[in-house]
Amino acid sequence: MKFMTAEPFRIKMVEPIKKSTKEQRRQWLKEAGYNAFRLRAENVYIDCLTDSGTSAMSSHQWAALMLGDESYAGCKSFYKLEESVQDIFGMPYVQPTHQGRAADYIMAKIYAKEGKYAIGNMHFDTFRGNAEVLGALAVDYVIDEGKDASSPSHPFKGNIDIDKMQRLIDEKGPENISVVIITITCNNNGGQPVSMQNIRQVSQLAKKYNIPVVLDSARLAENAYFIKQREEGYQNKSIKEITREMFSYCETATMSSKKDGLVNIGGLFVTRNKDVFALANQLAIVHEGFVTYGGMSGRDMEALAVGLQEACDEQYLEYRINQVKYLGDNLKEKGIPIIEPTGGHGVYVDGRRFFPHIPQHEFPSQRLVCALYEEAGVRAVELGACAFGSKDKETGKPIWPELETMRIAISRRVYTNSHMDVIANALGEIYKNRDNYRGMKLVYEGPITSLRHFTAGFELL
Ligand SMILES: *Cc1c(COP(=O)(O)O)cnc(C)c1O
Repeated sequence: MKFMTAEPFRIKMVEPIKKSTKEQRRQWLKEAGYNAFRLRAENVYIDCLTDSGTSAMSSHQWAALMLGDESYAGCKSFYKLEESVQDIFGMPYVQPTHQGRAADYIMAKIYAKEGKYAIGNMHFDTFRGNAEVLGALAVDYVIDEGKDASSPSHPFKGNIDIDKMQRLIDEKGPENISVVIITITCNNNGGQPVSMQNIRQVSQLAKKYNIPVVLDSARLAENAYFIKQREEGYQNKSIKEITREMFSYCETATMSSKKDGLVNIGGLFVTRNKDVFALANQLAIVHEGFVTYGGMSGRDMEALAVGLQEACDEQYLEYRINQVKYLGDNLKEKGIPIIEPTGGHGVYVDGRRFFPHIPQHEFPSQRLVCALYEEAGVRAVELGACAFGSKDKETGKPIWPELETMRIAISRRVYTNSHMDVIANALGEIYKNRDNYRGMKLVYEGPITSLRHFTAGFELL
């Protein structure tokens, strides 16, 4: 099998993408205020802004679409989805939602409590936003190795620091912790996995104090694959055996199906607690739709039912994880500093080490995003000073984040390894000429600092 490292699919339909000149891209960048979110997608050659909702569907999924039952209540497509979800999650109750953030909202309404703590490895932005609106205190307790961008120091950099969790429980009292949320894989530090042992230990500790555990599981299959590869005792287990064990340690799971669901839209709220399910149904009816569709069309549920199963296929996962690693290895060979080991859904380039002469307040990772687009029409995203910077509530002084990266997110089943080569070669060129790049100045930002990266405007210094 050693030489069989290419994609485990062949291409039946193609979608043209546009090549352009450097001159054109310079102009488009300028018009977009040097913000990749404001570029027109048709002016992008290889789009690595996000892995969310950008998967290519299989022939089986497209065929399933035609079977969509659009009945308002009790449609066939819901029961197919329910069965597929039960098979992978091992939990009985399934509420579909229109996206992951809607499931997050329902989950936050049920589990986040005013003035109480929500412990996480690294909370995803949409839960954090919901929690803050509800007055809950969202804290990130990822292990220290998870914040260290410079060394492959741990195989599971998404793990929660159990000692920190115990300390908070001791200090504040278990009655002041309303929920523990483990995000698998941990999105905010590079798609880093969480080990089964850590999920088990967190769950045991939480159980002792009657604190519910939730898994935010957008990338559940990728996390399971890492467990199989890296954790003692899982080499001979199937991906589904691993996912079911992961979920056996939680009460509830949310999922953005735009990732490992291999579809373009949709979300899930899954639980084993009947009372929680009843609450979720009520919230879904008000905000999403009736319980058997929750904001999804019948055909979308059909495609998701199939996509979830395909995401748990080991040949697919081997290709998926190794394509990301292929890009990472390629960059490393060129001396480009990345977060190691590479995670599940993209490669994160360390902006500080790439442009050591550009200080954080001049947005080194954002500069790199612009350079990469200009060089080759590749769109990545900044996760650094702009996206995660904040302001002191009293003085208004800027606070700079620990993480300073450019994420190259890889869509599922969309680009070939040749596209990975284009990205690596372009970054190699920029790296060779890195001394010629200057920083940037933020000239426009919206009223909500935590959302400013979507609409911000910059100038080149
Ligand atoms: C994408 C994502 C969400 C939000 O899901 P949407 O489908 O984009 O609304 C929530 N949590 C995690 C971990 C995610 O990756």
